Amino acid sequence: MADAPQYKRILLKASGEALMGDRAFGIDQKICDRLAADVRTVWEKGVSVGIVIGGGNIFRGVQIADTGGDRVTGDHMGMLATVMNALALRTALRQAGVDCVVLSALAMDEICDSFTQRSAMAHLSEGRVVIFAAGTGNPFFTTDTAAALRAAEIGADVLLKATQVDGIYAADPQKNPDAERFDTISHEDMLARGLRVMDTAAVAVARDSQIPIIVYSLLQEGGLAAVLSGEGRHTLVPAH
Ligand code: UDP
Repeated sequence: MADAPQYKRILLKASGEALMGDRAFGIDQKICDRLAADVRTVWEKGVSVGIVIGGGNIFRGVQIADTGGDRVTGDHMGMLATVMNALALRTALRQAGVDCVVLSALAMDEICDSFTQRSAMAHLSEGRVVIFAAGTGNPFFTTDTAAALRAAEIGADVLLKATQVDGIYAADPQKNPDAERFDTISHEDMLARGLRVMDTAAVAVARDSQIPIIVYSLLQEGGLAAVLSGEGRHTLVPAH
């Protein structure tokens, strides 16, 4: 049996693309349910969990900018996409028996509560999983940066990035099968090498707040509990 989790409070970033599975668009319910089951496993062990969900499986702001449209409008649409994913994940978590709430960085009272740091802390201390929707609430940012910010705001012990690959590579391993893989790498090296697994701004926020980062594959069943116990395949970016 895996050892007890090493972290008391985590911030998990799941990209929209990871939720897509093999589909070309939208949400693969199986992946969403697996993510919910993985979260339940660690939540049942008493780990306090915040989740930032991306929106790239539905919409990215650059899609509009690339066709000559207005980037800000595109980013608003991207943030709305993250809200849709957050609602899907909340549904999956509740069906799995996990008490959870969605807090959005953009006000949409009819759908969910708005994010404040105080309400997030209150929900977490009452044992609820908090799903942070709408990224930072600002255009020109990404949900990676939102994840690092929320991790700092809730005092998370670690920022986990669930991706479609099992760690940090020198190049995209899906395009370059021979790309070097790192078991550990520093925040500084990630920035210096321009590794694209996470945004520069997100890595800088994590570094400045001394938050370690773990990158692991969402496709590994039970992967979250395993990496939190120091097992499973992952890359660790230590705090120092
Ligand atoms: N977005 C934004 N501000 C934020 C977070 C996200 O404008 O703070 C928009 C942006 O258009 C982005 C889209 O939402 O392309 C989806 O987020 P992201 O690309 O980070 O999703 P992921 O790649 O994780 O699926």
